[in-house]
Amino acid sequence: MKPRPDPPATVLDRLTGARGRQDRLTHTEHLPARAARYAIWPPGVRPEIVAAVEKSGIAQPWTHQAEASSLAIHGQNVVIATGTASGKSLAYLAPVLSALLDGTEAPNGRGATCLYLSPTKALAADQLRRMGELRAAGDGSLDRIRPAAYDGDTPFQEREWVRQYASLVLTNPDMLHRGILPAHARWASFLRALRYVVIDECHTYRGVFGSHVAQVLRRLRRLCARYGSEPVFLLASATSAEPGLSARRLTGLPVTEVTDDGSPRGETVFALWEPPLTELHGELGAPVRRSATAEAADLLADLVLDRTRTVAFVRSRRGAELISVIAQEHLAEAAGHAVARRVAAYRGGYLPEERRALERALHSGQLLGLAATSALELGVDVAGLDAVLIVGYPGTRASLWQQAGRAGRSGQGALAVLIARDDPLDTYLVHHPESLFRQPVESTVLDPDNPHVLAPHLCAAAAELPLGETDLELFGPSTPLLLPQLERRGMLRKRGSSYFWTRRERAADAIDIRGGSGTPVRVVEADTGRLLGTVDAGSAHTSVHTGAVHLHQGRTYLVQELDLEEAVALVVEADPSYSTVARDTTAISVLSTDHEVAWGRGRLCFGSVEVTNQVVSFLRRRLITGEVLGETKLDLPPRTLRTRAVWWCVTDEQLDDAAVLPEELPGAAHAAEHASIGLLPLFATCDRWDIGGVSVPLHPDTGLPTVFVYDGHPGGAGFAERGFQRAREWLGATLAAIRACECERGCPSCIQSPKCGNGNDPLDKPGAVRLLRQLLTDGGEPGVPGTDIEAEPGGQGREAGSTGAGPSA
Ligand SMILES: [Zn+2]
Ligand SMILES: [Zn+2]
Repeated sequence: MKPRPDPPATVLDRLTGARGRQDRLTHTEHLPARAARYAIWPPGVRPEIVAAVEKSGIAQPWTHQAEASSLAIHGQNVVIATGTASGKSLAYLAPVLSALLDGTEAPNGRGATCLYLSPTKALAADQLRRMGELRAAGDGSLDRIRPAAYDGDTPFQEREWVRQYASLVLTNPDMLHRGILPAHARWASFLRALRYVVIDECHTYRGVFGSHVAQVLRRLRRLCARYGSEPVFLLASATSAEPGLSARRLTGLPVTEVTDDGSPRGETVFALWEPPLTELHGELGAPVRRSATAEAADLLADLVLDRTRTVAFVRSRRGAELISVIAQEHLAEAAGHAVARRVAAYRGGYLPEERRALERALHSGQLLGLAATSALELGVDVAGLDAVLIVGYPGTRASLWQQAGRAGRSGQGALAVLIARDDPLDTYLVHHPESLFRQPVESTVLDPDNPHVLAPHLCAAAAELPLGETDLELFGPSTPLLLPQLERRGMLRKRGSSYFWTRRERAADAIDIRGGSGTPVRVVEADTGRLLGTVDAGSAHTSVHTGAVHLHQGRTYLVQELDLEEAVALVVEADPSYSTVARDTTAISVLSTDHEVAWGRGRLCFGSVEVTNQVVSFLRRRLITGEVLGETKLDLPPRTLRTRAVWWCVTDEQLDDAAVLPEELPGAAHAAEHASIGLLPLFATCDRWDIGGVSVPLHPDTGLPTVFVYDGHPGGAGFAERGFQRAREWLGATLAAIRACECERGCPSCIQSPKCGNGNDPLDKPGAVRLLRQLLTDGGEPGVPGTDIEAEPGGQGREAGSTGAGPSA
């Protein structure tokens, strides 16, 4: 059974037609093929490098590779934002390796150095391997370049060698932040010679994580300046809107964009797919849609039987494993065990050798189907597939294109299928193809000025070198306000005009750049004392409270006790017939309103809020049917979160006009809130879990019925602000998503939320439609971007904090 490369449209026809599944296909998009455009390497790329590249099989660079190299050689910061498999690595390796060779001919010098940052260790390891291959293709002159990884896995005895002799150090932002910058004196010779900083997959630095990385890079730039170097920044990004602007926010430097992709592409057929409703009923009698997982397993099995090389991208490890197991069962039944073995699962945490073996098996056609988590998106070479199944919208159009781009060998066609999960965003997207295919890819949202992010980095910077007047500008406009505050809190000491870190602990250790806040709660197996992992402090109350059913790497545990003082949750492995869901109450108060615009009689605001959330009980729900087995009270303290929010208010006249009765209002506002949280990721590069919401029929601070959506991280992350800027499109899409769903009274595809603290009660679907329509009609035409809104870029969010009607109603 050899793979057969048929045109993608033919493959899709067989997939839908043979089984009468045409009605699940909501849209088919044909993306034409594109021819390659070639250029020549600019002068400055050394002949040894050109020769090695040619020997490795690349006769000529594509236009964008040559353009980016040329800019880099001329000392300009560059961001390359082109498609998957467009050779971004080579575009920066050519100038970087040339520069690293330049210096080595000097008799005494170490030559120039380069720092390469990637979001994961695995990706850095892959780059190191690729560099090794390029070196092997060369004539030996490239051996003068000494690349080395420097991360948590680097043995201590090797670290000194790396610091002293490596010319290209591959690491990640975490190691830069904790390991390299605080020990900069030992890195003096490396930093002094630093010519280039490469930031790979830079679109992954978004939200709170991105804001932290932005400050880590400012600390790096400050130390380089101290050692007399001024490195050029080379960034590689998935296709995104305004990559230059995002890169500037990330690095704090002007960055030139290279976006005109010269690489070839085969014809792509992109199908949008919605699993059908079933006969089953879920929460509050809502209809249940067939799961995207079950649907994907069927499609994967059918594609493999059809000899089409396919990867299914799944968001969770458990999902990837389930899809591969179910697809194997189907295949064993249909064609025997030998065929079933041609499907496998892939998730993060595999060893490099295991990944190499999978890559080889895919390339050779020995493996025909793979169910993978997004860990595969970064760093594993699976280009050359015939079809990609995307199981659930991956959160951004950038990721969607990145995953879809995995299919299609050079010049060959490819099939991509997005399978909707039952949530409002996926529902909206499969019914609104224009929002995927006629929209620019979103820009990366981050907010380095967030004082909650900036303050600890100022401490870390002061610990590295005292902070003086000249440093204020580098760290942004909030710095002059924050430094005296840090002094008053005893974090920094001022002597003369400089601030010093005089405390004994390491300042950098207090910062978790991956965005956790507070002490993480350790999840420990009670009988063995084994540490299974940690849970972010912000979500511990909801996910590992006493009595919670907790999933960890596909296994099920029961929490015996949550000890907040020790920050430990003791768990035992168990197999309960139920799941648990925490219930909470949330109150929100407005601290300041920073922006406010009138929408007819209604109002839209953005500002600072304080959210007080208390987990009060949990429900046990029977698996599969969702039937509630009982409620258990909990005694947990309230927690407060100061953050940023976007909120909208309507007047009593608007409610009258919309025919929303007082008794319908709590359910209408709650439903609108849930759906709007589900849709915000379409406009801000966030995850549904990064934000929370509250709806209140009469809010004391606004005096009106109000719906809040807030960033789930202290100080905010820029998501609510983006919602404010794009409010018309966002709320217009929210309305459209609710209306598009064929259910009668609300379901997970429209207004029900998996993380509602109120058990999805009350919810009023027709009321939400009337309410949103009134708001948008009063404020101008729905779906039209606002022109009166000031445009300036800008967890522990539960709908998460969402209470239908506020804590008391
Ligand atoms: Zn629905
Ligand atoms: Zn809710």
